[in-house]
Amino acid sequence: MTRRPRRGRLHGARILVLGGGFGGMYTALNLERRLRGPLHELTLVSNENYMLYTPLLPEAAAGALEPRHVVVPLRTALKRTQVIVATVVRVDVRARTVAVRPPEGPDRAIGYDQLVFALGSATRMPDTVPGLTERAVGFKNLAEAIYLRNRVLQHLELADATSDHDARRKLLTFVFVGGGYAGVEAAAELHAMAEDALRYYPNLVRAELRFVVVEAGPSVLRELGDAFAGRVERRLAARGIEILTATTLREVRADAVVLSSDEVVPTETVVWTAGVCASSLTAHIPAQKDALGRIVTTPGLQVPGLPGVWALGDSAAVPDDATRGQPAPATAQHALRQARTLANNLAATLEGGTLLRFSHGTLGMLATLGTHDGAGRLLGVPVHGFLAWWIVRTYHLLQLPTVARKVRVVLDWTIALFFPRDIAQLGSLGRVRPRAEADQAAAGPG
Ligand SMILES: Cc1cc2nc3c(=O)[nH]c(=O)nc-3n(C[C@H](O)[C@H](O)[C@H](O)COP(=O)(O)OP(=O)(O)OC[C@H]3O[C@@H](n4cnc5c(N)ncnc54)[C@H](O)[C@@H]3O)c2cc1C
Repeated sequence: MTRRPRRGRLHGARILVLGGGFGGMYTALNLERRLRGPLHELTLVSNENYMLYTPLLPEAAAGALEPRHVVVPLRTALKRTQVIVATVVRVDVRARTVAVRPPEGPDRAIGYDQLVFALGSATRMPDTVPGLTERAVGFKNLAEAIYLRNRVLQHLELADATSDHDARRKLLTFVFVGGGYAGVEAAAELHAMAEDALRYYPNLVRAELRFVVVEAGPSVLRELGDAFAGRVERRLAARGIEILTATTLREVRADAVVLSSDEVVPTETVVWTAGVCASSLTAHIPAQKDALGRIVTTPGLQVPGLPGVWALGDSAAVPDDATRGQPAPATAQHALRQARTLANNLAATLEGGTLLRFSHGTLGMLATLGTHDGAGRLLGVPVHGFLAWWIVRTYHLLQLPTVARKVRVVLDWTIALFFPRDIAQLGSLGRVRPRAEADQAAAGPG
């Protein structure tokens, strides 16, 4: 820990935060609280005008939560920060400028004195698996979550309308590749939704529904430890979700996937959550990167050799004092804690104060596994079933920014306790066509 002298300034610093996710938004929020100098200019650039609370995305996909309620509008959460909705296209650390592309109009350059890089990660689909990029979807944003919900409901409708056994099998099989949090939670929540919905489809039977999680490693949710992960697998298997470990995807065809075990699984739905890498814009930061393309930072979250440049979250490899300097894993809870340390250090650099080193001893890791079920470890003790599910929900509710969002989410959860899940399929949302085009489509060919 170092004490820096207070620097007298005639003008405040221009602080530019790139990314409005866990790392970026919480850095801006913490800076708003910490910076005393009113002259500092705080700007955040993000390609969406909201922060997506990803841990609740599987519930939004499964219709347990209204999708709008798992996002936090950046302009309501940030009071002193100028929010710019645009895509970052180039970072020039020599000129100290960032080029951004607004939804309309030409690119513009924004200058900075202090830069916070928090552009997160991206889904990486390897070209080596034929058909993968053409046919699989990711599970990382709201559009993908809504698409998957509609897809499952649409396939229930299509299967209900046909008596062809092979067609029904293919329509009712959903393959999730990747046994981390995103893959397991998405499979478990969507499976729970499909099972709930089955009661409205008298022609379909539970045994026809097939959800498969494919994982290359020896177990799913390895973050929980191998012994405990085995227990999770048995729980999911008991609910009818197949877990195929030590298995990889060899090919994605239009009507099936081929696995490394030679098994051919008939399906038209493949969800890819297996490969995640740092934002491609980390390439614009001339600094050391790790194997995942993450910017290697100091324990104080500075980028070595680039004064005034900071990085955190999924695009940074931040040494964690709590794990003897191991890089922190890419999780929301780590990004959130890093944001606090980074904001403290940036404010201390500008206004004087103590620089801190990042240290986050996690209290636990828990995952939800569908309705009233969860699993994980808290303070080293295994927790599962309703208790784990309840702890996860309570934790997320406490972390969710703004009171308005907390209230909306509680209302959704309360309604879900008393009423059946909403199974309206809103596939046409966001795809409104101009009137003439819609009339032409309705009239049909000729
Ligand atoms: C489905 C799912 C479930 C998860 N569940 C959990 C969980 O239960 N617990 C947990 O701890 N972690 C969970 N995670 C991981 C967690 O979401 C990430 O670790 C966390 O979001 C990382 O924060 P970040 O700020 O680095 O990235 P993000 O939160 O992804 O933020 C990146 C931001 O940058 C913006 N952006 C990206 N590129 C550009 C660009 N070129 N121009 C402008 N803006 C851009 C994005 O819109 C976004 O606002 C989950 C992730 C997923 C996908």
